[in-house]
Amino acid sequence: MSDVLDYAAVGVGPANLSLAALGADVENLRSVHFEARPGFSWHPGLLLPEATLQVSPLKDLVTLVDPTSRYSFLAFLANEGRLYQFLTAKFPAVLRAEFDQYLQWASRSIPSIEFGAEVRGVRVRAGRSSDGRSSDGHFVLDTGRGEVTARNVVLGTGQTPFVPGFLRPHLGADVFHAEEFLSRPRELPGRAVAVIGGGQSGAEIVRHLMRLDEPPRSITWITRRPGFLPMDDSPFTNEYFFPAYAREFHGLPQADKRELLAEQKYASDGIDLATLQDVYRERYRHECLLGRKDWLRLMPRSEVTGCARLSDGWELEVKGPHAPVVRSDVVVLATGYEYRLPDCMAELAPHLARTSDGLVVGDDYALSLDLRTSGRVFLQNGARHAWGIADPNLSLLAWRSAVILNAILGYRRYNT
Ligand SMILES: Cc1cc2nc3c(=O)[nH]c(=O)nc-3n(C[C@H](O)[C@H](O)[C@H](O)COP(=O)(O)OP(=O)(O)OC[C@H]3O[C@@H](n4cnc5c(N)ncnc54)[C@H](O)[C@@H]3O)c2cc1C
Repeated sequence: MSDVLDYAAVGVGPANLSLAALGADVENLRSVHFEARPGFSWHPGLLLPEATLQVSPLKDLVTLVDPTSRYSFLAFLANEGRLYQFLTAKFPAVLRAEFDQYLQWASRSIPSIEFGAEVRGVRVRAGRSSDGRSSDGHFVLDTGRGEVTARNVVLGTGQTPFVPGFLRPHLGADVFHAEEFLSRPRELPGRAVAVIGGGQSGAEIVRHLMRLDEPPRSITWITRRPGFLPMDDSPFTNEYFFPAYAREFHGLPQADKRELLAEQKYASDGIDLATLQDVYRERYRHECLLGRKDWLRLMPRSEVTGCARLSDGWELEVKGPHAPVVRSDVVVLATGYEYRLPDCMAELAPHLARTSDGLVVGDDYALSLDLRTSGRVFLQNGARHAWGIADPNLSLLAWRSAVILNAILGYRRYNT
C-alpha cells in the first residue's frame, strides 16, 4: 500500500474535528489530523462556567449533513446517559463547557487524530516521476516527530487573537487578550479593571467579573461601537448562515462582499441577548441593591488610542464623548480575532493567490496555488472575506467539511 495519505489536516479545533468525524467511516480514506495541543480544548482561556453556545447544538460536528452520524451531540448525550436529564434541564442555550466535553469526547473516539503534534512546515515534494518530466507534487508535512506525505492538506488552525499595535509592547500579567483570561492566575479582587471591546467576549468577561465573590474595585467597559448592541438573531437574518446564502455570497464581486460584510456585522459580532440581559441585571443588583453607584462604567463610542504604564497601573488614552483617559490596574483586550496563515505555510505562502482582501478561496474551499501539486490546500475558517460572516461560526461547520471531503474524495459522499 502507498504511504501517501489522501490528506493531512493541520490543527484540530471544531473545524478539522468535523472533517475527521465525517471522514471517520469512509472506507479506504487515509488521513491524519495533527493538533499541537496535548488534547482537545475549545478556547480554554474563555471557557467561563456560565458561557453558552450562541447557536443550536444541532450545529455540531456532523448533524446538518449527516444526522445519523455516531459523532453527533445527541449521540454524545446518549453515550453519557444524560438524554433525559438534558431534556428536563431545558437550558435556554447549551453551556459551552458541555459542548467542549462533547468535542473532547469526539476527539478521543477518532483514531486519525494525533495530539501534541505541531506542524512546523509544509512543502511540495519536487520529485521526478518515471517519465522523467513531471514532479509527483505531494505535500510533505514536518511535525518535528517526522514527516508525512499527503496528496492534500486541510488547514484548520483557527484565528489569532487581535491586539492593536500600540498595546503589544505592554502585554503581560496585567494587560492581556481575553483569549488568556482563564489560562493564567489573575489578581482581580479589589483592583480597577478595564475591558476593551464591545462584542461577545467583552460582555462575557464583564458579566463574569460582576459575579465574582471577590469582585474588582471597578469595571470600565469601553467600546468603539455606538452602544452595547445585540446580535441579530432574527429568522430572516439567520439565513445568512445557510449554505445556499454562503454560496451566493461567494459568487459576488468583491466590492459587494465588502459592503455586505459591514452591513451584516451584528448578525455575527453582536452580543447575545441573554448575556446583555445578565449584564444589565448585574448592574441593577450592584447599583440599586448594593449601592455601588458607577461601579460599572460604560463607555460606548470610545476608542482607546494609547496606553502608558504608570507606577501603579495603566493609563489608557481614549477618544470619545466620555473621558479622555481611563486609569486601570488591569486591562483585558476583548479586541477580537483575525486570520493569519500559519507559520508552517511560510514556504508555500508566496505561491498562494491573493486579492487585497485576503487569500483567493475557491468554491470548494481550495486555495489557489501556482505550483504543480498532486492535490490541493483547503482552508477552514479563514475566508470570511470570500464566504461571508458565517465562515468563523459553527453554523456551516459540518457543511464546509463535507464540501472539502467530497472534493478530496472526488465523489459526492455527502449531499451538500
Ligand atoms: C470564546 C469563543 C466562543 C465561541 N463560541 C461560538 C459559538 O457559540 N457559536 C459559534 O458559532 N461560534 C463560536 N465561536 C467561533 C468559532 O466557532 C470558534 O472560534 C471555533 O473554535 C473555530 O474553530 P477552528 O477549528 O477553526 O479553530 P480553533 O478552535 O481555534 O482551533 C484551531 C486549532 O489548531 C491548532 N493549531 C494551530 N496551528 C497549528 C499547527 N501548526 N499544528 C498543529 N495544530 C495547530 C490550535 O492549537 C487549535 O487547537 C466562538 C469563538 C470563541 C473565541
